[in-house]
Amino acid sequence: EGKLILVPTPIGNLEDITLRALRILKEADMILAEDTRTSGHLLKHYEINNRLQSYHIFNEHKAVEGIVSKMKEGQLVALISDAGTPSISDPGFLLVRESLKHGIDVECLPGPTAFVPALVKSGLPSDRFTFEGFLPHKKGRHTRLQSLIPEERTMIFYESPHRLIKTLEQFEEIFGPERNASVSRELTKLYEETVNGTLKEIKEHFSQKTVKGEIVMIVAGREDK
Ligand code: SAM
Repeated sequence: EGKLILVPTPIGNLEDITLRALRILKEADMILAEDTRTSGHLLKHYEINNRLQSYHIFNEHKAVEGIVSKMKEGQLVALISDAGTPSISDPGFLLVRESLKHGIDVECLPGPTAFVPALVKSGLPSDRFTFEGFLPHKKGRHTRLQSLIPEERTMIFYESPHRLIKTLEQFEEIFGPERNASVSRELTKLYEETVNGTLKEIKEHFSQKTVKGEIVMIVAGREDK
């Protein structure tokens, strides 16, 4: 019986991979990777010589049909992304949905994903939260932000370093400068940094230097007054 397994890979520190993930990557008949060069380095590091096939947002729709038929023939297909858990702000969802539609077993191994450590390190309520991923860049951004004004749960965003200051400014406008928040940068890497404080304080901190690296933003929900 064929099967689809989503395999999380490290978000920086190469020690963050499970024994099961390594075994599945060795055993798979086919590994689908977002970027075969990036994932090629990763497999090489773990001494896995398995075949990589490219699977990214540009060929996702077209590729799905062929992959589903391979699994129907009995192949074990592993899906990885550049970093973290596939399908979390990364390709995967479409293939999962189509696989399920065709009665194929889908598994997802637990493993690294950037928002969990960022949320936990923020010290903001983690009992209820909403993952917002990347905000729309242009069209729909304002509407999306507006829709979050009444949000009472902790909010999680993915953001790129060059947009951080701009986004903090927009958050100040939408949520007010005194709203508590947290920005985590370069999680699990050498220059890991988490800054907790009000939106205003965090903006002041990051305004003093060029911001580099990968970023997760956490914003407290609105307090019920
Ligand atoms: N699939 C990934 C996951 O499970 O978290 C997310 C992939 S998404 C294309 C990339 C974004 O995730 C980055 O822009 C950043 O917001 C966040 N991210 C990934 N690695 C990170 C890290 N080491 N530190 C902070 N944020 C990270």
